[in-house]
Amino acid sequence: MPELPEAETIVRQLREQIRGAKLGPLRHVRRDLVRVGARALKKRLPGRTVRDVRRRGKRVVIDLDDDTRLVFALGMTGHLGIFAAGSDVAKHTHLRVALDGGRRELRFRDARRFGGIWLLDGTDDSAGFTRLGVEPLEVDLRTFRRILARPRQVKALLLDQAAIAGLGNIYCDEALYRAGVHPCTRAADVDPARVKRLHRAIKRVLRESIAAKGTTVASYLTARGERGSFQSKLRVYGRQGERCRACGTPIERIQAAGRSTHLCPTCQPL
Ligand SMILES: [Zn+2]
Repeated sequence: MPELPEAETIVRQLREQIRGAKLGPLRHVRRDLVRVGARALKKRLPGRTVRDVRRRGKRVVIDLDDDTRLVFALGMTGHLGIFAAGSDVAKHTHLRVALDGGRRELRFRDARRFGGIWLLDGTDDSAGFTRLGVEPLEVDLRTFRRILARPRQVKALLLDQAAIAGLGNIYCDEALYRAGVHPCTRAADVDPARVKRLHRAIKRVLRESIAAKGTTVASYLTARGERGSFQSKLRVYGRQGERCRACGTPIERIQAAGRSTHLCPTCQPL
């Protein structure tokens, strides 16, 4: 499931490929995936130029030259990429937009269809960006301390996009392990030294994963169709039963915040 590093990888590659490109006709759209602007897409996209591609939380935003934005939620299996116009169209491709007079296409594919598409005017907040929490790569320690000062399970809090935007199951587990924090600890009870470690661990694990172009454990591929490589660096996620690399204790998998949660019971005491 794409989280911040996977969305960021897609954004960086798309930016390289389509900044300044001109959009052409809409070649295909599955309308029920378009949350806002389904009717307007066909009329409004042709002729627009891509001003920039950026990320907010786990979402991909394509800024257009008329101050509208094309926003994509990647959901569980969403993928964005640029393809040669005549190339085979993969199954579950729900949006195709011509680029550069028809030589290339932007395509959005999403087998599970938990993702979504929005075409938004400058100020329209239908995609809920103002409800999103801080960006974990940007948040300072002081703000992070304030966010954690809540009587709520730390894993549930880190997963809450309204508190911190971009973390999902994989990077929560990895960051909590690196910081030595048990996922079921009440956030407000994490001691100050560990809050500091967690703040640093989140940034590190995200940066390392971005450098590795993300984690491919299921279907995620970069915008250029490559697998990410951070899966080989995971220390707890998906390693249940294997030995902790720090202390040798078998990694456990439990349920926390309604999710499979991986931890070392020795390195992350409750
Ligand atoms: Zn351990």
